[in-house]
Amino acid sequence: MLRDRKRLQDDASRPAPGDMGLGAGLRLWESRLAPCEAAANGYKQAMPAIRLFGLPTDINSSFERGAAAGPAAIRAALFSDRGNMASELGPEIGTDIAFTDDGDLPLTENTSHDDAAIRRHVVMLHEDGEVPLALGGDHAVSFPLVEAAATCFGPVNILHFDAHPDLYDDFAGNPRSHASPFARICEGGHAKRLVQVGIRTLNRHCREQAARFGVEVIPMAEFTPDDVPVLDGPLYISIDLDGIDPSAAPGVAHPEPGGLTVREVLAALHKQTAPIVGADIVEHHPGRDIGGVTAILGAKLARELAALIDRNGSYKN
Ligand code: MN
Ligand code: MN
Repeated sequence: MLRDRKRLQDDASRPAPGDMGLGAGLRLWESRLAPCEAAANGYKQAMPAIRLFGLPTDINSSFERGAAAGPAAIRAALFSDRGNMASELGPEIGTDIAFTDDGDLPLTENTSHDDAAIRRHVVMLHEDGEVPLALGGDHAVSFPLVEAAATCFGPVNILHFDAHPDLYDDFAGNPRSHASPFARICEGGHAKRLVQVGIRTLNRHCREQAARFGVEVIPMAEFTPDDVPVLDGPLYISIDLDGIDPSAAPGVAHPEPGGLTVREVLAALHKQTAPIVGADIVEHHPGRDIGGVTAILGAKLARELAALIDRNGSYKN
């Protein structure tokens, strides 16, 4: 099985790691025109392939833009010789696990246009039996990402790491603000359960929104990974890097002290056993980073999410 997956990964029609921009999208479309090839080499029966792509937008950031540069910074750290492709779960990304970098989607700063482009891309990957792993961009991108997953699989269980609940009905008049994606997801009926980890900025409005939608907010005070439930599938995982303490993740627009340790995030991830239908790592702001440590953390979390997606296997409706 591993050999079959490696052969698919080596297929010349697949985008090569590091490919970026519009060209990568064209090759994706071409590869979709030959689905029989994937089925013929046994891939459809194998574990899901993981498709990394960037969403370089910060048009819905509320305070300071900069997250549009996040995908390039995390991708550079991921493929840098400074580290390797091992995961703590064992497998090596790209060798033991089929993993491709499809570059960035060509976004436009027109949110309704970009939302449609993101949805189309995610639905295309799901139709091919593959799992999207998206790099933001600001957190507004999670709305079309989750909406598309729910279109394919029905409402999903969501594990959401963040300092902020992102439940504002609107923020400064923008209902698609990066402070609002989970309000839109809940209103759309796209979440079976929404479990939020790392939250330490809950104001009255967001507390009311959490109660209205039935969001399970796990308090950061006295947090341990034991507090995090093991969710059923289909599971979607969204990691806002500001959920982690700013001492470990300074490269974000809204640093909030008192956050999660990296080990706590990994423990909450590794205990999840359900099939994962999508994941994102968002809000990296390279302009505020120190020595690239937040980009390196984003790259590590991408490897750990890829290994977890592979370990937990495909979701069957
Ligand atoms: Mn967020
Ligand atoms: Mn946040």
